[in-house]
Amino acid sequence: MHIELTEMLRCPERHEEAFLVMSTGEMVGRMVRSGILGCPVCRKEYPIVKGIVNFSGGEGTPLRDKNTQSLRGVPSPPDAETLQALLDLSGPGGYVVLVGSAARHAVALAGLMGGIHFVGIDAPPDVAELPVLSLLACETMIPLRRAMARAVVVGPERASPPWLSEALRVLLRGRRLVIEDEGATAPAGLKQLAVGQGLWVGERG
Ligand SMILES: [Zn+2]
Repeated sequence: MHIELTEMLRCPERHEEAFLVMSTGEMVGRMVRSGILGCPVCRKEYPIVKGIVNFSGGEGTPLRDKNTQSLRGVPSPPDAETLQALLDLSGPGGYVVLVGSAARHAVALAGLMGGIHFVGIDAPPDVAELPVLSLLACETMIPLRRAMARAVVVGPERASPPWLSEALRVLLRGRRLVIEDEGATAPAGLKQLAVGQGLWVGERG
């Protein structure tokens, strides 16, 4: 995990947002390879192992993924140029959150745009941490503070209402969210901009 992401994290327990306290172990450049994040409110500790922050193992109920039966016939994933245009990403800086299998887009998107840091939530095991990509594991929520993301992409298996409300919570006002499921039911607060070719595109009002 990139060390500067620390200030954007939140404890996944159900209490107010509070800065987590980082104790770093091994660092490689600006990436924390091992360490512990502690919550000053509930005193829980979350380990960073091989670069991945593990927020799972808490007492919360895991949010359900979308029934994978319904994923048959899902169109192939969008290409990076299409995603960049739909997310209205121009100019460097800030964070883009990629939920579930959407973490696979990080490398191609980073190739198009420098200066953006990507945050993968529950990325598939074949997705590796990179200087431009931090990986967080959490089954109960997106462990990030509200309104911190320039854009969010939600993978098809995560297109269920609880994950979509989490995606909306971390998105900045006026910024875009792409759901890789055109049949998704978007939460209130998202204005629909486009639907088609397997994608649902909206903007936070
Ligand atoms: Zn806590």
